[in-house]
Amino acid sequence: MSIPISTLGTPRIGPRRELKTALEAFWAGKQDETALLSTAAQLRASNWARQSLLGVTHIPSNDFSLYDQVLDMSATAGVIPRHYGWEGGPVPLSTYFAMARGSQGRNDRGHDDRDHAGCSHGGHGGGVPALEMTKWFDTNYHYMVPEFRRGQAFELASAKPIDEFREAAALGFHTHPVLIGPVTYLLLGKSKDTDLDPLALLPGLLPVYAEILRRLAAEGADWVQFDEPCLVLDLDERTRKALRHAYDVLTGAVSDLKIMIATYFGGLGDNLDLALGLPSAGLHLDLVRAPAQLRQAVERAPADKVLSLGVIDGRNVWRSDLTALLDRIEPAVAALRPNRVVLAPSCSLLHVPYDIEAESAFDPELRSWLAFAVQKIGELKTLSTALVDGRRAVADELAQSDAAAAARRISARIHDTGVAARMAELTPAMGERQHPYPLRRRAQEWLGLPPFPTTTIGSFPQTGAVRKARADHAKGLIGDADYYDFLREETRQAIAWQEKIGLDVLVHGEFERNDMVQYFGEQLAGYAFTRHGWVQSYGSRCVRPPIIYGDVSRPRAMTVEWARFAQSLTKRPVKGMLTGPVTMLQWSFVRDDLEREQVCRQIALALRDEVGDLERAGIRIIQIDEPAIREGLPLRHAEKEAYLAWAVACFRLAASGVDDATQIHTHMCYSEFNDIIHAIGGLDADVISIETARSRMELLDAFRAYRYPNEIGPGVYDIHSPRCPTVAEMRDLLARAQERIAGDQLWVNPDCGLKTRGWDEVRPALVNMVAAARILREEI
Ligand code: GLN
Ligand code: ZN
Repeated sequence: MSIPISTLGTPRIGPRRELKTALEAFWAGKQDETALLSTAAQLRASNWARQSLLGVTHIPSNDFSLYDQVLDMSATAGVIPRHYGWEGGPVPLSTYFAMARGSQGRNDRGHDDRDHAGCSHGGHGGGVPALEMTKWFDTNYHYMVPEFRRGQAFELASAKPIDEFREAAALGFHTHPVLIGPVTYLLLGKSKDTDLDPLALLPGLLPVYAEILRRLAAEGADWVQFDEPCLVLDLDERTRKALRHAYDVLTGAVSDLKIMIATYFGGLGDNLDLALGLPSAGLHLDLVRAPAQLRQAVERAPADKVLSLGVIDGRNVWRSDLTALLDRIEPAVAALRPNRVVLAPSCSLLHVPYDIEAESAFDPELRSWLAFAVQKIGELKTLSTALVDGRRAVADELAQSDAAAAARRISARIHDTGVAARMAELTPAMGERQHPYPLRRRAQEWLGLPPFPTTTIGSFPQTGAVRKARADHAKGLIGDADYYDFLREETRQAIAWQEKIGLDVLVHGEFERNDMVQYFGEQLAGYAFTRHGWVQSYGSRCVRPPIIYGDVSRPRAMTVEWARFAQSLTKRPVKGMLTGPVTMLQWSFVRDDLEREQVCRQIALALRDEVGDLERAGIRIIQIDEPAIREGLPLRHAEKEAYLAWAVACFRLAASGVDDATQIHTHMCYSEFNDIIHAIGGLDADVISIETARSRMELLDAFRAYRYPNEIGPGVYDIHSPRCPTVAEMRDLLARAQERIAGDQLWVNPDCGLKTRGWDEVRPALVNMVAAARILREEI
């Protein structure tokens, strides 16, 4: 007797991002389809082999994807909008990638630099546009949104789930195919016909799933995993009914195939009985985000249901305290009996990097606290053995885990008494500016800005030369002096050019920054960076989230020299540029031994010091970017306000230490504001710039309804597109903005930073933007 181990899904981009390389070579026409597919097959084979070797008993298949697993489901079920020209039959790779990237291909330059999805998505020249893309629940993974129409037909168009099961079997691996559950799939989709509710399509979709099950059973599958993370959301009665109906049909479709319903990214809460009552053979629970639901589930589960215990964190990189875990799960396993238990990570391992062993240059102590996918499987194996053969059978493993946990609890590199002292001294007054906005506005008149002031969001093009200089500097090919000379020259030219075309508030251009989070993280204590810790963000795009392992503090000023240098070149105000505390948190792996809220406060305090130093250095306009505020929203409605309250408090802590006469900006992109507008108001930034060009200013409706009192720069230039916006277009957008917001509150700026564009695109666009603002001034 042993307790089965499942992973629910594994990283698939390849330990050295082999899939990324193959995809980009294929898209660039440098490799043919056969080569791409062969790389993909090798990655699948080594994923199966690795898991088998590590002792995984329930090895997943169909968790691999050439781009995205939701897109795979659309291809599988024939959900392919007409304009992609598919006429039935197997879905060609060209159709699949057209749905993923648009038929001309998005301007994907294939570089590695983290390009946050917040600002990286959407541009495609001509041809057929890609499907919409959006965040997978509260992760930084993005999926392609299924697009439904009235009269939507479904058919088994791609046999991928069956093919991959067969492929694994041929290699000697018996796998558990993974499918996105039908209800989650429909809920994630969007209807192009306003009166069509995607859930109404369920009866048409279920036969495709049933057909897949029949074919898998015929191939010898015994378990199939259906991912239904929608079960951790607030569900209405209609959705609950849909779930019951779906699994009644699917469990009835094939008698000898067992279904495991996987839920993750949170607790089932009020859906627990619904989930336990579905007629599936098994239910997977996220016991990291919601440990308390274990007891309830054990008590309330029907006597024959298998419970998959998601006890190892699939969303974070920390090594587990295995002894503490065993204390928690032993009673549950005893109550259920081992034959009703599976051990698993909380969710698919897709969201963590491959293997900490690859980080050879990493500090050994820090490394001993971490577990990536490979180590997490090892932990599951240890737990499984301990539960069956007793803890003594894994005494060494447990001793190591205990030692790591003990060291981490007291390590001086994590616990900084200086930070603790400052945190204890925080006062509410530190989150308040000296005076309310109307008075600050007057105090800021000395800046002498015209009506409709023009500015940009921070970065200027990261040209080939800029990237090359950075890479050469990192490799030691050019020394500090030459590198900084180069950066100063770029900055000098950027300042001179901005002055020449008549922008009002200038930026230094961010040429020295690799990434808006990494640049700051590298200068803060408490942050670590990996070399190979890549995690898929979407398609071939990967990110390497920094790891916040300890108390965060700022050993020295981070941006002051660059800001001071830029300001020394001009009489116009230069805007200081910082990444906000919530974004610094949201785009990192965060320590799990301190509340996120507290970690965020520490970052905010470090940034507050930076803001103060900038002000003292004569930088009197300071922008604190918070593009990730909205994506931190919890999945459950009841938890949203608590999150927003601390997120806003952290921003204010970072921003409020300045004089009334210093102007604080913030920036947000790729965001809707309706449900968070009160929090945006709560930030009380003197000026906020937002991405609005593509929505043609409709995002401003929320600001109008809220009677937002401070200044706003609604983006008039869609920086995702290589197209140059005309003066007339931008004037028109500004007219639409003025239907919503008073002219004297408006700034004129692009949607976001310009780092992904070329100077040839940026120059005429900004010249036109300044011209549009001048016309508005003349009209006053
Ligand atoms: N200041 C940053 C830039 O211009 C903002 C980036 C962002 O919003 N994602 O690049
Ligand atoms: Zn932005």
